[in-house]
Amino acid sequence: MIHVVRKTAGQWGMRVPAQRGEEMRQALIHEGALDASLKVLREDEDLILPLLEECEGAEWFEFEVHPGREPLPRHELVGGIAIMQDDDPDGAERLLASRPSLRTVVFAQGEVHGEYRIREFRVLAGDPTTRTKVTEHGHIFTVDLAGAYFSARLSTERQRILAQIQEGEVVLDMFAGVGPFAIILAKRASLVVASDLNPRAIGLMLENIAQNRTKNVLPMLADARRLDRILSWKFDRIVMNLPLSGTEFLTEAFRLCRPGGTIHFYSLVSVEGEHTARIRELGGTVLAERVVRSYSPGQWHAVYDIAVSAE
Ligand code: SAM
Repeated sequence: MIHVVRKTAGQWGMRVPAQRGEEMRQALIHEGALDASLKVLREDEDLILPLLEECEGAEWFEFEVHPGREPLPRHELVGGIAIMQDDDPDGAERLLASRPSLRTVVFAQGEVHGEYRIREFRVLAGDPTTRTKVTEHGHIFTVDLAGAYFSARLSTERQRILAQIQEGEVVLDMFAGVGPFAIILAKRASLVVASDLNPRAIGLMLENIAQNRTKNVLPMLADARRLDRILSWKFDRIVMNLPLSGTEFLTEAFRLCRPGGTIHFYSLVSVEGEHTARIRELGGTVLAERVVRSYSPGQWHAVYDIAVSAE
């Protein structure tokens, strides 16, 4: 009998030391994160455990498919919703059956677009909804994928910025969406002003403020272009998460930040240092420029941590 070895085109995997392999495999099964259709890889003293979704520390590997098991289609998980890039109703049904926490499988029709940075979806399997709840570091966020932007991939960034906040800071989130940065940063800040142009994002942010019992986030339905005219305050820290066109708002952010304050500016870039000259021109110093994630070949999302001149 011929044994045909089938390989995946690529899948997220978690590298663990072989002696901790079984313990980690059980933990991933418990979290519903292990892709049981793929074989565990061995590399020297390490095991690579196949994952159903990207998570912190995950890398991309080629896995062998278990004979007799169909590999699950590629997808991104947001709470109880799996987002597939392919219009594959059979794959969607298999995906839905693969983990009890999944309620809906959708097909993303096209790219994130428009001012509100949203996408259209078609439900392929499960409950006919694009609303779900996402848990992140002890917080719960209600999101509606078709109504307002949300990315679970920014959770590490939110914790990184939270760790930099000094007690009592007043923070502005210029492109706040449903409020994940604002609500998480409010744990340390004395006040977070959270502004967005999309009314549905502000509606969901109000739900999120209530369900996380947050008492120091001020939601604002406003165009970030006008914020420096509406608000006379100077902020200790500003988050600018609008990677495709955030550069258009840098002048406003510098006007709103106090001398010596910090701006976290997210941008889509294709060379390191792409915005350094502009930031210097405005009176800022780049403290760090980090890659957040890759976007397309030769382009990535970067975050610039900027110190605004103290004079
Ligand atoms: N920070 C949020 C998060 O991490 O989930 C959302 C980021 S999303 C990439 C950008 C957000 O900016 C969207 O919610 C969009 O509605 C909002 N936006 C776009 N243009 C804007 C503007 N001129 N003023 C205020 N908000 C704007």
